[in-house]
Amino acid sequence: MHLRPLLLLSPALLLGCRRAKTDPTGALDLEVWTESAPDGWTEVKVDVTEQHGAFMVSAQTETQGAYLSVEEVWDPSGNLVMSWEDWDSSDEWIGEPFFAWYKDVFFNWPIREEDGPLEPGSWSVIVSAVNDAWVYKSADLDLSVQRKRDTEPAAGTVHVWLVYAKGVTRESGVQDAVEAAVDQWRTIWAPYGLDLEVEYGDMPGLDPALPVPGEDSDELLKLSRRGNGEQIIVVIGETVDGDKWTYGMAGGIPGPMVPSDRSAIAISWLVHAGKDASFDDDEIRVFGGSLAHEVGHYMGLCHPVEDGYASWDALADTPACSDQSSCEEQLGPNLMFPYSICDWETCSVQEALTDDQVVVSQQYSGTL
Ligand SMILES: [Zn+2]
Repeated sequence: MHLRPLLLLSPALLLGCRRAKTDPTGALDLEVWTESAPDGWTEVKVDVTEQHGAFMVSAQTETQGAYLSVEEVWDPSGNLVMSWEDWDSSDEWIGEPFFAWYKDVFFNWPIREEDGPLEPGSWSVIVSAVNDAWVYKSADLDLSVQRKRDTEPAAGTVHVWLVYAKGVTRESGVQDAVEAAVDQWRTIWAPYGLDLEVEYGDMPGLDPALPVPGEDSDELLKLSRRGNGEQIIVVIGETVDGDKWTYGMAGGIPGPMVPSDRSAIAISWLVHAGKDASFDDDEIRVFGGSLAHEVGHYMGLCHPVEDGYASWDALADTPACSDQSSCEEQLGPNLMFPYSICDWETCSVQEALTDDQVVVSQQYSGTL
């Protein structure tokens, strides 16, 4: 059983009271409040000005059996600009917020180029709570809104807090390999106006068989509360949940910029190092690609095609290929391709982003 994260942010927080939490001169502000939604839905108002480039609505609940999602997004002129029905039976995929899968929902807006730029005025985001039969359910909600001040939409810095789990810094060569992989990640992002600032830390209490973000991990929740509010948290462990094949796992598409048990990206150093548990240059290059890929998910990027070749992202400039050979040929070099393409010697380079993917990354509220 864990504590309610948003309540811990402020002892002065009162039910139904909405208040600013951070210095309003910062790049990303934060308002938090709690609300009960007896009918199973609530309207979250977001007031934006010309200075704002994006906003993020987060909702979390402790109500047993309630699953949250975003149903509708209305612009300041009163137009419905996106609805859950757009994605319900679509073979295109725009991320998790329109699906009631979790006890929390994290919604960034705008998402794609065609969704922006953000029109000043009062936006409405309808957040709903349903039960497992998709019937509205009364729920208590911890809500937050973050607005990003953005003077340069085509350029941004992602602030990362990279945290080592227990014992990882004592493994021979691992810290050097991680730092080299971060350099590679920075190189991958540089052509797209994405800058990377990394602060290193460690959490000796965190099991190196990392928890899966979002699966009720008290450890990740605790860690996320120690972040500075503008950082994306990357944890480096030996494995993710003991799995031998998983390079890494992001807490959401997109992931939150508020504390939660999903507010992290879990990365395995051992899977990257291979059977000999020691890094060669090629493994470091792939490691850098994994960091950029998983944090890309966290910033709202989906795979351009899913494994199985029957569903695609909702971006216009990623081809809708439909079998293994055409997908690997057209999209294999893309950073967000769903799997690595390797022979016995080496893995192919997967570092490219399309223009539309760059816009999604730049519009993410944590890209400051
Ligand atoms: Zn992926």
